[in-house]
Amino acid sequence: MSTFQAPKGTYDLTPPRSAKFLAVRAAISGPLKNSGYGYIETPGFEDVALFARGVGESTDIVSKEMYAFETKGGDKLALRPEGTASVLRAALEANLHKAGNLPVKLWYSGSYYRYERPQAGRYRHFSQVGAEAIGTEDPALDAELIILADQAYRSLGLTRFRILLNSLGDKECRPVYREALQTFLRDLDLDEETRRRIEINPLRVLDDKRADVQKQLGGAPMLRDYLCDACKAYHEEVRNLLTAAGVVYEDDEKLVRGLDYYTRTTFEFVHDGLGSQSAVGGGGRYDGLSEMIGGPALPSVGWALGVDRTVLALEAEGVELDIPATTSVYAVPLGEEARRVLFGLVTELRRAGVATDFAFGGRGLKGAMKSANRSGARFTIVAGERDLAEGTVQLKDMESGEQQAVALDELVAVVRARTA
Ligand code: ATP
Ligand code: MG
Repeated sequence: MSTFQAPKGTYDLTPPRSAKFLAVRAAISGPLKNSGYGYIETPGFEDVALFARGVGESTDIVSKEMYAFETKGGDKLALRPEGTASVLRAALEANLHKAGNLPVKLWYSGSYYRYERPQAGRYRHFSQVGAEAIGTEDPALDAELIILADQAYRSLGLTRFRILLNSLGDKECRPVYREALQTFLRDLDLDEETRRRIEINPLRVLDDKRADVQKQLGGAPMLRDYLCDACKAYHEEVRNLLTAAGVVYEDDEKLVRGLDYYTRTTFEFVHDGLGSQSAVGGGGRYDGLSEMIGGPALPSVGWALGVDRTVLALEAEGVELDIPATTSVYAVPLGEEARRVLFGLVTELRRAGVATDFAFGGRGLKGAMKSANRSGARFTIVAGERDLAEGTVQLKDMESGEQQAVALDELVAVVRARTA
């Protein structure tokens, strides 16, 4: 161990577990790439005001969890706590919405930062894969995103996840409900901070995890009873499309989520093996966000799935991912001359597309064979002076134990044929 450790609330991804993270990212992005979503990458930090406006001043994310700082040049920046605001900012900046091709469908993958109290499944640095479909209001688009996330989780072999679904209404019906809810909440026995929340973002009080608060919320007016006809019809259509696709979901009228900008469809993916950090992903429609950050009206929908918690979910379910050995061939030279010849062959094999590794450091046969085993390689190539004198190497099949001499100038072709 060095003098230093990973900062509090962070951890390193190291082999072999890091392979699971790559597999999870690939599993989530696969269905997106296959459905017309293009890859977008934005900076790890943005103008702090983008998040203040785009995520919402009253959210925990902005008010408590953001890594905000001032640069030497006096710019006020923040490490990105989430992806949607940045992606929309970038799409607007590049005028992607003006190319006459709506919706603009984008996917991303990266690191996010929140100053939270570290615990299992909750870190200060974590990673998400996300998707946004910008500029179109169509229940099929909301359904598409939920179906693709479901497909991603299933392709990983997860079964103990559930999809929670709700509608938050729109700018017609939500304000009416908001007021009714505020009137109800103001009469309850609540602490100062929660009373303040009633005035800024009352829907989030419904989300309060404390039992004494939940008990008082029993008779709260429900948004479902306030949805306008257009929102009701839209939500019905999303539900019908999901059902037709065979995607099982649960209606959860208390689901409001942490972000201010959600409208209509809102959903969360929870996993039952994760204890209190049970949300593996979430998202929804955010029809007002573009205007909130100075853009035109662009109704949009998206989600972000947490890679860290998805890996934890796999481990909780005991799912072993089928991660193929990265090395197909392992070369073991015996002696100086063999080292030069085999290193040359290793380079040739690699250039021919065969995943190959080499016993570095001039180790003895026993130690080198141990490394060959550990690498998971299907074949080893062993050569000493006598083999080279005959112009051959020994090619060993690690599964069957079979060994054959192969001429040096035929090796690449033989190995390629047998690893194809
Ligand atoms: P939570 O309710 O658990 O705080 P959230 O609503 O803040 O989650 P989102 O902003 O919707 O989460 O982010 C989407 C996903 O990103 C979450 O479902 C989760 O998997 C992951 N995520 C969010 N915050 C963290 C964190 N601090 N550490 C690890 N993963 C996180
Ligand atoms: Mg959170």
